[in-house]
Amino acid sequence: MKTVSSPGLKSKLVFSFGGGKAEGNENQKELLGGKGANLHGMTKLGLPVPPGFTISTEVCTFYYGNKQAYPKSLVKNVELALGRVESVMKRKFGDRRNPLLVSVRSGARASMPGMMDTILNLGLNDETVKGLEEQSKDSRFAYDSYRRFITMYSDVVLGIHSNQFEIVLEDLKHERGVELDTQLTTADLQRLVQQYKQIVRTEGKTFPEDPWEQLWGAVGAVFGSWMSPRAITYRKLNDIPLEWGTAVNVQSMVFGNMGNDCATGVAFTRDPSTGVRKFFGEFLINAQGEDVVAGIRTPQPINVGSRHASAEELQTLEAAMPKAYKELVRTYQKLEKHYRDMQDIEFTIERGKLFMLQTRNGKRTAAAALRIACNMVKEGLISKREAVMRVQPEQLDQLLHPMLDPQARKTVLAKGLPASPGAATGQIVFDPETAEKWVKELNRKVILVRIETSPEDIGGMAVAQGILTARGGMTSHAAVVARGMGKCCVSGCQALKISNDSKLFTVGQQTFREGDYITLDGSTGEVIAGQVPTIAPTANLDLLQLMKWVDEFREIGVRTNADTPNDAKVARAFGAEGIGLCRTEHMFFESDRIDAVREMILADTKDGRERALAKILPMQKLDFKGIFREMKGLPVTIRLLDPPLHEFIPHKDEDLKGLANKIDVPFERLKRKAELLHEFNPMLGHRGCRLGVSFPEIYRTQVRAILEAACELVRDEGFSIVPEIMIPLVGDWRELKFCREYCEDEAKAVVARFNEQAAKGTAPRKKIAVKYLIGTMIELPRAALTAAEISKYADFFSFGTNDLTQTTYGLSRDDSGNFLKDYLDAKIYERDPFATLDTAGVGRLMDIAIREGRAARPGLKIGICGEHGGEPQSIDFCHRTGLDYVSCSPYRVPIARLAAAQSALKQSRTKKSKPRR
Ligand code: ADP
Ligand code: MG
Ligand code: MG
Repeated sequence: MKTVSSPGLKSKLVFSFGGGKAEGNENQKELLGGKGANLHGMTKLGLPVPPGFTISTEVCTFYYGNKQAYPKSLVKNVELALGRVESVMKRKFGDRRNPLLVSVRSGARASMPGMMDTILNLGLNDETVKGLEEQSKDSRFAYDSYRRFITMYSDVVLGIHSNQFEIVLEDLKHERGVELDTQLTTADLQRLVQQYKQIVRTEGKTFPEDPWEQLWGAVGAVFGSWMSPRAITYRKLNDIPLEWGTAVNVQSMVFGNMGNDCATGVAFTRDPSTGVRKFFGEFLINAQGEDVVAGIRTPQPINVGSRHASAEELQTLEAAMPKAYKELVRTYQKLEKHYRDMQDIEFTIERGKLFMLQTRNGKRTAAAALRIACNMVKEGLISKREAVMRVQPEQLDQLLHPMLDPQARKTVLAKGLPASPGAATGQIVFDPETAEKWVKELNRKVILVRIETSPEDIGGMAVAQGILTARGGMTSHAAVVARGMGKCCVSGCQALKISNDSKLFTVGQQTFREGDYITLDGSTGEVIAGQVPTIAPTANLDLLQLMKWVDEFREIGVRTNADTPNDAKVARAFGAEGIGLCRTEHMFFESDRIDAVREMILADTKDGRERALAKILPMQKLDFKGIFREMKGLPVTIRLLDPPLHEFIPHKDEDLKGLANKIDVPFERLKRKAELLHEFNPMLGHRGCRLGVSFPEIYRTQVRAILEAACELVRDEGFSIVPEIMIPLVGDWRELKFCREYCEDEAKAVVARFNEQAAKGTAPRKKIAVKYLIGTMIELPRAALTAAEISKYADFFSFGTNDLTQTTYGLSRDDSGNFLKDYLDAKIYERDPFATLDTAGVGRLMDIAIREGRAARPGLKIGICGEHGGEPQSIDFCHRTGLDYVSCSPYRVPIARLAAAQSALKQSRTKKSKPRR
């Protein structure tokens, strides 16, 4: 063991607990790790915790800062601390008559996979095992403990896989014709110990007999595991800094395997899946450590309330050990009251006496998180603020979509991108026509499987349970449309080889045909064979309650991205306060109007375009009226036509031929035009406001539709409405100025015409005043950098962070899913640049645009309508940089509201601010 002197290390390195006293407390997670801090906390509460000590995380940091040497003073401190344990326990470490045994447990701040497994029964050797035999008057127990210790120590410290030991154990049980470990005799266990030691020798290792050598070996293994590849990866993925380090807990053993008056178990202070206030847990008689979770025997329920249907005959702890159970109940109540949260506890009963080995805040489902938060407010245990902070925004997603029954078995065929959450099961169809026919005429449930989707597929997508595509990314047509519909979608599933002609797809060796069942999990991207039961989301009263509290604290507005009256309605129900992005092209995609749109695109003259546009105008007007009505006077931001025109043209020759016939244009000409229009990723070029510059009649028509809709509603239905007209993809103030001016002319003309008509009418009518705003999307780096100039012509800004991310990083999420996946998998970024806004990239551009835009135009209204508007960390960023609102897909509105409230609460700890809405 390497040590170096450590004059610089002033702080205390080892913290003792036990005998009713503790040197640390539960708030010292940074220093003592989560497990350690709570062991100290429980001791302070007067709970029966076996004595022990914690080596602090600072020692771990020192260890790695000093070429893996311990500070010299540590040795002395550990000896002293162990001496204290010895005197509480009245046993001696390494003593041949009355040995003290300990467990060595790792403990980072947050529980972390990849860290060392706990070693139990440390201190045993060929001598002390006899002492344990004498002490306990139970030889079987002594050798059972010894063989467990050799297995754990060899696995964890010596690096000999525990498989080898398990095989020998299984062989022995087989030879004896028994099923359970507990049926082996003392002689059997003694033989096992000999065989185990032989395995260690065969592996070229020596099993340390000296307990001190065992102890330092285990401590070294805990520190070593901090740098295990798994731990490193986990830290990287979860942004846990290396410097945090891990603590080591050394704790006197208590034994659940000393006979039938002994047991070990785990429990939750409330039901972790429903949140219902009932004590819930499992235990095993005559068992140790992880036996309960390892599935060696079927665990028994601690009480009747914890009983599963399948375990009806098993005796409860309440019945088997009533005294210990009563004490356990008192203990959990005390813990919950103290920690003011649902606890996940570990306990052991030795000869009828209860010992507590761990407590922590329990993991829970979304439903449980809500129920617990709401109940605890009612019980007076926590405040509303705390309740709001307790629920993770992302978790709510589970409640808002159907999900796969977690109990169900499933065979995962392949994985694509989790493009739109939820779960769906149905029969495979390969084309939208069949989808519509099967659903409408045969009442079947279908999954639409496509190489990629295009506008013609809308009808089929609308009736399908879910959508699966082989190509395309998170912002592909399929993904965007499905999210808008709140429908499950897995996109870019490269493993699928689809043959539309033979109506089948293959995955590896398997073939699936039209009519076969598959299941999709849009939250994980999994494609699953056959039917898996799904659970529908239900109206959740706890959610409604929490959302009420959320809105008391929230400062920034939450709007929705909605393209149809139905989207708008869903979003309103989820609490949206307006529409932040209404994409007009999705209205163009509707199957009954796409032909008029195509006619407009393919027209060679302004006249031709205007003729086609005249057909589109009334349809758009209807849509806008529908949406305005749903939003009942709330703000609605409408983006004028944005995408490159080729997206509206069919991809395949046969479809092109059909179109040529319909609109009476020669096929060859159509084909040439389609090729001319084609744009490549990242689709810039002739789209957005540039379309508006070249063909003003398109935007003019749209503005006319918007204003006519507004005027008619004001005139006929007494509406108050302020449409916000948004001009996309501006990179230069001149583009905006040009488009804005004619849009304003058009808008004024519409209002004037309405008033003229009113004046001519017989009945006296009030003058119509419709206010409107004209603003722009900030989605190009240049727009952000020239925000001061642009803001002169913009009544509002809205950050289009999808395109802004692509153009900032030069990376497109739609680039073949494959490329992007490999690229992101290489993990050169701390996190996926598409996932969160950060101050080194898109976030910095936003910050510049906000500051300079508002400096030039005080009070400029600014929002965000990219996908980031529904992502909690990005929402926090938006809150801090001073946005007025975020906008996200309808199903994410509750998530955004909660995230926004949490940001406000976090910030209000440092300063008082007032709502910006
Ligand atoms: P994990 O973090 O994986 O839960 P733990 O350190 O909590 O690891 O230990 C694993 C198991 O060993 C738990 O069931 C725990 O209750 C048990 N255990 C740990 N220390 C002791 C001890 N001193 N006496 C008895 N059982 C122990
Ligand atoms: Mg544990
Ligand atoms: Mg855009």
